[in-house]
Amino acid sequence: MLMKHIRGILIGMVSGMIAAAGTLAMSFPALAAEGEMGALYRVHENGNGWSGFIKDNTYGQAAPDAYVTAMQATLENQPAGMSGTIAYQVNLSGSGWLDWQENFSEAGTTAEPVPLEAIRVKLTGQLAETYDLYYSVLQNGVWTELSMNGDTAGVEGQGLRVDGIRIAVRKKGEGAPEEPETGNRIDPSKPMIALTFDDGPSTATPRILDSLEQNGARATFYMVGNRMHSYPDTVKRMVSLGCEPASHTWDHTYLTRLSAEGIHQNLTRFDAELESIAGVRSRTMRPPGGYISSASKQALGSYGVPAIMWSIDTLDWKTRNAQKTIDCVLSQVKDGDIILMHDLYGTTADAAVVLIPELTKRGYQLVTVSELAEYRGGMQPGQSYSRFRP
Ligand code: ZN
Repeated sequence: MLMKHIRGILIGMVSGMIAAAGTLAMSFPALAAEGEMGALYRVHENGNGWSGFIKDNTYGQAAPDAYVTAMQATLENQPAGMSGTIAYQVNLSGSGWLDWQENFSEAGTTAEPVPLEAIRVKLTGQLAETYDLYYSVLQNGVWTELSMNGDTAGVEGQGLRVDGIRIAVRKKGEGAPEEPETGNRIDPSKPMIALTFDDGPSTATPRILDSLEQNGARATFYMVGNRMHSYPDTVKRMVSLGCEPASHTWDHTYLTRLSAEGIHQNLTRFDAELESIAGVRSRTMRPPGGYISSASKQALGSYGVPAIMWSIDTLDWKTRNAQKTIDCVLSQVKDGDIILMHDLYGTTADAAVVLIPELTKRGYQLVTVSELAEYRGGMQPGQSYSRFRP
């Protein structure tokens, strides 16, 4: 029952460990006689309890409607005679940094539904001289860049929470661990583009998600807040597929018709709804109609999000013609493009299910807007972006 909530951590788990999932009783898996030293950890989710054991360099991710409230970690295959252990510290929302823990002691809380905001992990003793520790947290739908040897992973003090943890041990000199098989792998040297779908969700959205899932692709959905309660499963599925659910305002009001306070209220209402459905907040927003002014940018800046425009406008809402939408994209697509479509229309879904495999075949990585920005120079709240060229 617990296991159906836990995704991304099943790889590498042996059957004997599954029995231990969800209980506090320690039942360590048998350690291999030989093998590289690795981290072994698990996460406690609000509502779902402890995950199963998570093997070294594996994404341990909470369910879409849950987050991480505590963690435990230890080491497998520690070389005999080498002193030290793995130590870990968590920043618990409202409490700040708690004491360092080790040897599978609990860091965080299992009693209250309070999220972690950040973590630090390190090796001690002789281990620290021979090995490096790498780790990352899932925050707002994105895995942070790898932190090392006691540095902080995650953003503290901004109301962000940890939705997943990945820890890897590597011998010094070996460099960073490879991307886990279960993760969303992005090759920074290869072309990438962001498909964006506005004005949904709708009954057309699941077909687009099916195609994204089948092709290992992702997209960003700039949703109208007051539509989300009608499609909660669709919104949750976006998150579980690694897509980016993001704000197109609560009710599609043009930002230029709102005061700064009106913009804040509107976006707050959107984010509260998104958080209650899928447990995440918008990292970016798209202004309805594409209307933006310097005053509205300033309001977005103080709210903490950038405005995302587009470099290819398919006019799918106007033509309602799948072939024209497909031709529009394929005739001009370039590395770094942000492509505008609308998942309100069956014809747009018809176009998307052709475009997603075709663009993938042509060598484009279909990533979210936040991923594209992360690999192409970043983005700042209050600024607007139409593309992220290499
Ligand atoms: Zn719109």
